[in-house]
Amino acid sequence: TMIPERRPAWLKVAAPKGENYKQLKQLMRGQSLHTVCEEARCPNIAECWGHKTATFMILGRICTRSCRFCAVETGRPLGLDWEEPKRVAEAVQQMGLRHAVVTSVNRDELKDGGAAVFASTIRWIRRLNPDCKVEVLTPDFKGDQDALRVVIDAKPDVFNHNVETIPRLYKQVRPQAIYQRSLDVLKWAKEMNPAARTKSGFMLGLGETWDEVITVMQDMRAHDVDILTIGQYLRPSFQHLPIQRYVPLEEFAALKTEGKKMGFRHVESGPFVRSSYHAHEQADEAIKT
Ligand code: SF4
Ligand code: SF4
Repeated sequence: TMIPERRPAWLKVAAPKGENYKQLKQLMRGQSLHTVCEEARCPNIAECWGHKTATFMILGRICTRSCRFCAVETGRPLGLDWEEPKRVAEAVQQMGLRHAVVTSVNRDELKDGGAAVFASTIRWIRRLNPDCKVEVLTPDFKGDQDALRVVIDAKPDVFNHNVETIPRLYKQVRPQAIYQRSLDVLKWAKEMNPAARTKSGFMLGLGETWDEVITVMQDMRAHDVDILTIGQYLRPSFQHLPIQRYVPLEEFAALKTEGKKMGFRHVESGPFVRSSYHAHEQADEAIKT
């Protein structure tokens, strides 16, 4: 079947505007920092930055993996930048963020997968911004528990690792990842610090069925995941996997209801939901309850 690339009405958003957003955008220039918000041209940027949430990408811009939904370049990454953690923390301070999300490319060529830089970034953000919540969205560290522990020991408020899709589609969507390994990482993170909230998410529109999605949600609960995010896959370019389906709003709502029944502390489900969308509210609610 031919799937029209033209988006349905509910997937259209206004261009970001507003003073707050403009100021922050200026600030990012010249800091040689990268926000996913800007680089992924995230449709939520005005809302998130307005609510003092932003997502930083650390450890460079070249990834050792080649997920077929992702716009990040694949290749051999450059060396490590040990000044980056401090620069991120300073940007968090200048932006006055209340919720900072830190994510990275995969650095499978490094022994610790970049875990030490994650940990340093968490600690620097805390040092300069004691009131800011810190969330990390990490790679799977190839299932290395020592690397994971380095990150968890720095005590992020939220530990996020996305399963991205249902296991049947891993070969096409995340060829270098392993579904069970991602689930294990989430469970280990929870065991290493039960006080932190764990979070995971996936995209819809890649060819998954309702039942397959429900099974993934049950698997997540069986691995103690607290917070769930579900969004629509949007193809970054024609080089990337095609969209199989635009999922209607009612289906996102139905999955949210299912998720709440299963015991997730918070479920964010909608076409524009990204890992970090409403991250501040998600964390507040999940920490309260
Ligand atoms: Fe940035 Fe995430 Fe918000 Fe998008 S959803 S603007 S990436 S914080
Ligand atoms: Fe993109 Fe992350 Fe996959 Fe790398 S590991 S290709 S950054 S989704």
